[in-house]
Amino acid sequence: MRPYARVRKLASEEREELERMERSRKPAAGRARRAEIVLLSDRGYTAEEIGERLGCHQETASRWIDRFNRLGLAGLEGGPPEAAMSAGDSCAGGPAGVAERWFERVRVDGEITLLYEPHAHELVRSNVWHVRGKDRDLLVDAGLGAASLREAYPDLFERDPSLVLTHAHFDHAGGAHEFPERWIHELEAPRLAEPGFATLSGAALPAASRREMAQMGMPIDGDLIDALPREGYDVRSYRVVPTPATRTLAEGDAVDLGDRRFAVLHLPGHSPGSIGLWEEEAGLLFSGDAVYDGPLLDELPGSDVAAYVQTMRRLRELPVSVVHAGHDPSFGGRRLREIAERYLAWRAK
Ligand SMILES: [Zn+2]
Ligand SMILES: [Zn+2]
Repeated sequence: MRPYARVRKLASEEREELERMERSRKPAAGRARRAEIVLLSDRGYTAEEIGERLGCHQETASRWIDRFNRLGLAGLEGGPPEAAMSAGDSCAGGPAGVAERWFERVRVDGEITLLYEPHAHELVRSNVWHVRGKDRDLLVDAGLGAASLREAYPDLFERDPSLVLTHAHFDHAGGAHEFPERWIHELEAPRLAEPGFATLSGAALPAASRREMAQMGMPIDGDLIDALPREGYDVRSYRVVPTPATRTLAEGDAVDLGDRRFAVLHLPGHSPGSIGLWEEEAGLLFSGDAVYDGPLLDELPGSDVAAYVQTMRRLRELPVSVVHAGHDPSFGGRRLREIAERYLAWRAK
């Protein structure tokens, strides 16, 4: 309980945006009310006073201030009703707000584009990579599938890409059903055809996972999305569409785009059939969840620590210039070796 939570010092753009939100008075998403809470706090009112003034519970006001402090304006965008925000509380905001856009798009270079879902929790916010090739395009992973990736970017998907899934976890494979060509390692194909556990609802996550995430500094506060992909979306309705693979991959297979050629590296450990795509000529690796610059997960169902150790030894030796990973920002060869060494030292203990 923090009834006296205070908003951090506002940046001038934030203040402008909050004032604009306050004036917009869109009660459906409750954004105007949330902006009012933050602005009142900034003017020196306590959560208790804000609660009185706006007719809401002070704990609710505190929670919005906390969210704003942690996530900035995005924290006011959605926000599932939380336990302390009881029904009938005018500041609870009812259903979470609808995201202005679901995907973000970053042009990496002339051929490579990164797509990701900013409203997904870090745990399930994966990177989707589009590579424009001469004869064919490559799509590495497909995101959660909570919104249509294809419809979001008709220019990118003018021609069907070959979708290569680095593994079958739902944050990477949820959108696979939108694409006619779906390639995945043979050990992951069954899971693509019959998806395992998948949820965006915080309440449906096992308590142990929540504890583990909190320990890793990624607490799950509510659901795994903080805004809705569209009006009326029910987070509990999230499912992964069962999708058979159209080609199964194995170590050494080639993915040929005409002007660029990638080799499939089998990199088990995170999951049995995790793969990377290695473009030797450019020293470029799409690594999926075999390695990324964040807390590595090797104790999930299907994970294998001994296999992961072997994978890290292999990655350590790879003459990499850039790694485009399944999560978090891209990095170079030196950082790859640091991550691998750190993992190996940790698991050698
Ligand atoms: Zn994964
Ligand atoms: Zn992942």
